[in-house]
Amino acid sequence: MRVLVVEDEVDLAQALAEGIRRDGYAVDVAFTGRDAMEKLEISPYDIVCLDLNLPDVDGREVCRRLHAGHRQIDGTDQPRVLMLTARDSLEDRVAGLDDGADDYLVKPFALPELLARLRALGRRRSRHTGAIIQVGGMRMDAARRTVYVGERDLDLTTREFALLHYFMLHPGEVLAAERLLDHVWDENIDPFTNTVRVTVSKLRRKLEAAGLPHAIETIVGSGYRLVE
Ligand code: CA
Repeated sequence: MRVLVVEDEVDLAQALAEGIRRDGYAVDVAFTGRDAMEKLEISPYDIVCLDLNLPDVDGREVCRRLHAGHRQIDGTDQPRVLMLTARDSLEDRVAGLDDGADDYLVKPFALPELLARLRALGRRRSRHTGAIIQVGGMRMDAARRTVYVGERDLDLTTREFALLHYFMLHPGEVLAAERLLDHVWDENIDPFTNTVRVTVSKLRRKLEAAGLPHAIETIVGSGYRLVE
């Protein structure tokens, strides 16, 4: 899944991005509200971590414009918004939720709590509501970053795990390579590389070794599908 961190305190923004990235997400950073709105126009983010206090366009305004002007970039839902606020007043929290935020977190917060809330928001974007996702003989615990096929623990790289996670959140759906690139990789990826194809084939080899040779189908001309 792909996350946009919007935070004007550069050190905090980079620390958040780093922590979220380590948990397997693709992460881009915007330091201003304007920069955030430009990025939201271009890329289909799954979740936005949105600081309330920004120097130009504040978080509430970004949130309002996101919901008012949203067009579906690739057929997926609009991003979930996790509002980050230093103000611990009831009015601010209520106003943020009224502006369309899905959840909020009061600064200072611990990274594990932010990551847990991202997982919860990510689940709300799919039909899975529990912490454990089960599809086609695989069992994934996103919090513990483990995937089991039967009793066997799959050893995946961060990117392979992120790719399989996205597949498992959308079982049976045909996912175009561009959509996978948009939701599993960040903006620094060269859109003309064959990185999706290469990562899918590495993932397939590992699934095959674990006894699932046909888990990911290629739909010629359309993309890939995780068999349910
Ligand atoms: Ca701020």
